[in-house]
Amino acid sequence: MVLKLEDISIHFGGLIAVNHFSMEIQKAEILSLIGPNGAGKSTIFNLISGIYNPTRGKIIFDGREITNLKPYAVAARGIGRTFQTIHLFNELTVFENVLIGAHTCGKVNFLGAMFKFLPGIQKEERELAEWAVQCLNQVGLLEKQTELAKNLSYGEQRRLEIARALALKPRLLLLDEPAAGMNPQEKKELMELVQSIRQSGITIFLVEHDMKFVMNISDRVVVLDYGAKIAEGTPETVRKDRKVIEAYLGK
Ligand code: ADP
Ligand code: MG
Repeated sequence: MVLKLEDISIHFGGLIAVNHFSMEIQKAEILSLIGPNGAGKSTIFNLISGIYNPTRGKIIFDGREITNLKPYAVAARGIGRTFQTIHLFNELTVFENVLIGAHTCGKVNFLGAMFKFLPGIQKEERELAEWAVQCLNQVGLLEKQTELAKNLSYGEQRRLEIARALALKPRLLLLDEPAAGMNPQEKKELMELVQSIRQSGITIFLVEHDMKFVMNISDRVVVLDYGAKIAEGTPETVRKDRKVIEAYLGK
């Protein structure tokens, strides 16, 4: 088991956004979290990645508790993520955006990279740059490496976010609505990319609205409604579940 959420809740004032939620993900699984708008899906990603602290419950990653760790510490433990709304450094190049991700797992931080005269730093810088190039290649953006991030198409920006997350050498990757705004061809390429990432042994936790995408790619699906789990299982069993149909059709 890679990730375990144990009885997690979070309140925002009077709103219970996540309510006694528990789940587990196995190694190299593709698990999707689905549910109506406002169900609490992004909040669960924010809890795992340390942006929010749960009101109650525990989060365990690779056998160690990560509840209440800061976001950089969660990333350094090996959890990469993308955001529902794209978070890139628009004025930096594609390559630089990924290099920043690579520094999260390297010994030299991005500022430290300026002290190039210190022994060892040049070598590590070179290795990180090579690794960033490999990550760009994996998502098919190598030819765009000198472009500014803001000049990429929407689908390319989504793939750049994935490359940056991969650059920190995660063992678990959280993808929040990666197919949003993509055309059918881009979605097909994204599906192949996600499968290739899983092939490399990285566990995938996905939030996605596109049901065709979810049903095609997932090993298992967890369904959330009003912050609570209402169903869990293979895509086939979940899509026939009465509570799931009601949660989607009843709104
Ligand atoms: P989803 O991703 O499933 O669409 P979210 O996790 O974004 O849903 O939101 C779940 C609920 O929590 C919503 O009602 C949202 O308004 C609320 N919420 C999320 N983050 C905050 C916050 N920082 N402060 C107050 N309410 C929040
Ligand atoms: Mg969301």
